[in-house]
Amino acid sequence: MAARIFDGDRLVVASHNAGKVVEIEDLLAPFAVTCLSAGALGLAEPEETGTTFEANAELKAHAAAISADLPALADDSGLVVDALDGAPGIYSARWGGPTRDFDHAMAEVERCLREAGALAIEQRSAHFISALTLAWPDGHVETVTGRVDGQLVWPPRGDRGFGYDPMFQPENAGLTFGEMDPAEKHAISHRADAFAKLIDACFR
Ligand code: IMP
Repeated sequence: MAARIFDGDRLVVASHNAGKVVEIEDLLAPFAVTCLSAGALGLAEPEETGTTFEANAELKAHAAAISADLPALADDSGLVVDALDGAPGIYSARWGGPTRDFDHAMAEVERCLREAGALAIEQRSAHFISALTLAWPDGHVETVTGRVDGQLVWPPRGDRGFGYDPMFQPENAGLTFGEMDPAEKHAISHRADAFAKLIDACFR
């Protein structure tokens, strides 16, 4: 079935992360959509009880669409490491602990890789996932998933980006996301892939 087209002029960005809201506004700039952030509207943040990225993106977008009575967009993302059976996965943010310390989270990923005997580069494959959901107040949702594949390096390299960027080297690149110019990362990232799919499906 064809995806539902977004034909409104206002959209809630179901995130309390100001950086994410700005990034989404930029991506939607060509479509003359006014973005309202869940934070600015005072919407509560639902608990992420899903067991997949898609389920968590859907529950966040759905809750915001119902509360604001407007279409809402939410994303859920994370790092999936093959040798760790997909960890940290949907718990990627939580591996940073309460202070969201990703130097600690990266060291933890490396410790687990060593414990699993994954020392050679071909045993250190990983990908980032970004699930994006557009939800309407009548309960309809459209969800897309973006992905970028790569390898985990140690020690981490670069101080750009965020999260696990300094230990993630995308396929066919000599630099980690932490070393890359942000524009270069945004051209190939999981989030860019998901946005391209969403725009293709739901925006005219
Ligand atoms: P959330 O989608 O805001 O819950 O983010 C999940 C977590 O995944 C983030 O806190 C980061 O640790 C990690 N993550 C998601 N996308 C990226 C990325 O582009 N680079 C590095 N880490 C990321």
